[in-house]
Amino acid sequence: MYLDYNATAPLRPEALAATHEALRAVGNASSIHQHGRDAASRVDQARRQLAGLLNCSAGELIFTSGATEANNLAIHAAAPLRKLIVTSAIEHPAVLEAVRARTADAPGSLVILPVDGEGLIDHDALIAAVQEHEAALVSVMLANNETGVINELGSITDAAHAAGALVHTDATQYVGRLPLDLNVLAVDLLSLSAHKFGGPQGVGALFIRRGTPLPQLPLVFGGGHERGWRAGTLNVPGIVGLGAAAEAAHRLLDDEAPRITKLRDLLENELLERIPGSHVNGSRAPRLPGVSSITIPGAPADALLASMPHVAASDGSACSAGAPSPSHVLLAMGLSRDAADSTVRFSLGHATTEQEILRAVYATVRAASQVRAVMDATASS
Ligand code: PMP
Repeated sequence: MYLDYNATAPLRPEALAATHEALRAVGNASSIHQHGRDAASRVDQARRQLAGLLNCSAGELIFTSGATEANNLAIHAAAPLRKLIVTSAIEHPAVLEAVRARTADAPGSLVILPVDGEGLIDHDALIAAVQEHEAALVSVMLANNETGVINELGSITDAAHAAGALVHTDATQYVGRLPLDLNVLAVDLLSLSAHKFGGPQGVGALFIRRGTPLPQLPLVFGGGHERGWRAGTLNVPGIVGLGAAAEAAHRLLDDEAPRITKLRDLLENELLERIPGSHVNGSRAPRLPGVSSITIPGAPADALLASMPHVAASDGSACSAGAPSPSHVLLAMGLSRDAADSTVRFSLGHATTEQEILRAVYATVRAASQVRAVMDATASS
């Protein structure tokens, strides 16, 4: 039972077919002969497919190696113009570490805003921070990778713009999961990653709104690809797979989102009813359809997952898996260290079935009572 879509989603069949076909073809998208022109036209098509999903123009998209690079590029390029970077405590390390690195030699130039118990950013604190400093870069994620909690960015973006700030959002977990219209969401920069919505790993994009006053400061220098923003031979098969996944997500989203929400609710209702003391983090906030962060007190997540090896879920975000520290997201939401360590993240997506959910419920309920029994016995011996 694969319930770890936030770590990576299975390839959509459309993406697999398109990537496979592109892998069989020869051609560098920069070459001027027919093979090169064919590769370039595949890339153009993928750019249009992604632009269709986001309702932006194809010329506003830069292909990257993924969201980590897109976040780093956005922050790297936007920071020098800006006196202050405002971000939140629940960002992915690909934002938090990038802003720390960018502001390391300018003490006081980084503001990390707290979140409430539901994982929502305090809008007033954010607005006050951008108003206090004449020019800032605001980088706030759209949906959190651990809880699925969605931060409403409309009013944040309006207030930030009014105060002369630029707004970047890490929308990696949101894109392809819920409809997103860049004509409505007025952010200046947005990062995404193909492998979260059924495209291949190792490819993503940065949206840069036309007219955004941004110096062209690439991280990778070379042959001037991607209009000078990101040098290096284009990953044509990856980009083609991203485009096909974007098109499929665009077409299927309206059916998928309610179906996945129903399965997520089934999972949560069954687990909450059968596992005494369990609770869902961020359940009162708007959330992505397929994400459930469940705390099972008395059952450390690593032990729980080890005792149900057929359920592929996560004990935090995959990017921080293996690190001994508890989830910074859950701690920021006010969970104790013990509660954070006893939290499992299930994430569902386009190929998840009801049967998988029912089997995962059965396995989790069993594992929780086994682990709790062992913990109780250890505590009393
Ligand atoms: N941001 C968020 C919110 C993510 O969940 C991830 C992936 N875990 C990333 C950035 C990094 O994406 P990529 O794997 O494409 O580098």
